[in-house]
Amino acid sequence: MSNIQTVGIIGSGTMGNGIPQACAVSGIRVVLVDIAQAAVDKGLATIAGSLDRLIKKEKLSTEGKAAALALIQGSTSYEDLQGVQLVIEAATENEALKLKILQQLDGLLAPEVIVATNTSSISITKLAAATQRPDRFIGMHFFNPVPLMALVEIIRGLQTSDATHDAVKALSERLGKTPITVKNAPGFVVNRILVPMINEAFFVLAEGLATPQDIDAGMKLGTNQPIGPLALADMIGLDVCLAVMNVYMAEFNDSKYRPAPLLKEMVAAGWLGRKSGRGVYTY
Ligand code: NAD
Repeated sequence: MSNIQTVGIIGSGTMGNGIPQACAVSGIRVVLVDIAQAAVDKGLATIAGSLDRLIKKEKLSTEGKAAALALIQGSTSYEDLQGVQLVIEAATENEALKLKILQQLDGLLAPEVIVATNTSSISITKLAAATQRPDRFIGMHFFNPVPLMALVEIIRGLQTSDATHDAVKALSERLGKTPITVKNAPGFVVNRILVPMINEAFFVLAEGLATPQDIDAGMKLGTNQPIGPLALADMIGLDVCLAVMNVYMAEFNDSKYRPAPLLKEMVAAGWLGRKSGRGVYTY
């Protein structure tokens, strides 16, 4: 299916308000579905607030905001997805839940409709195999915050067709994003490289090679990253970083993915980063 004009989005959380915003400001109609009306309302309010910030920065006109909001229909009913050309699943990261949602979509959507998932960690090949449209199933991995982050990782499961890939790539470009195409594997490309780098920073910290501030300054100034790996770990959540390393360890069975003992220790202490008030740094 080429030239996608109408998109359904499942889940109206952190990602499920960024993705509809990116679609709507690009002139694409959106049906945004969550289980609770409160979640839908919160998502729509977040989008409106985000568009207001763009107006303040003179990146969007008041008319542009109204036009974008008019393109987004919030709903608590999957029935409203009938007629969309693509569904992007961005519900809670839980495999059993995603499998249930995919089954529901299969019963509802016309056979030619493409289904994409924004999962960060679940196998695209495995999810595709659970649908009745494995060749029309694909990963579309956006980055947070979606309106600001330029990348979309497009992840091909073993079964994904070229036509599905090309349609999703064209849509990503229409959203003003730069897509990269990736074969399905744990962590895809970006997190596969990023999280082991963060893990290594915890080894370096534990060995006392430098202070946290100097490790972060070194990586910022020496590799031109906007934030150091330890400060980034605090932002992502140390527990999330540890969970990702545990997945790599289990999936690749290679000791190079061994989680840093200091990372494990800090998670055990409840020092999870910004969200708990203390991680590598104190907030
Ligand atoms: P979130 O917890 O902020 O939002 C999830 C939403 O899904 C909630 O509003 C919840 O009510 C809704 N939901 C749950 N069950 C549902 C159902 N059956 N039908 C419809 N909606 C349902 O989660 P998030 O951070 O937005 O993550 C969503 C997905 O995006 C996950 O797969 C996650 O791995 C992925 N992702 C997240 C990030 C990130 O930085 N947050 C980045 C890339 C990818």
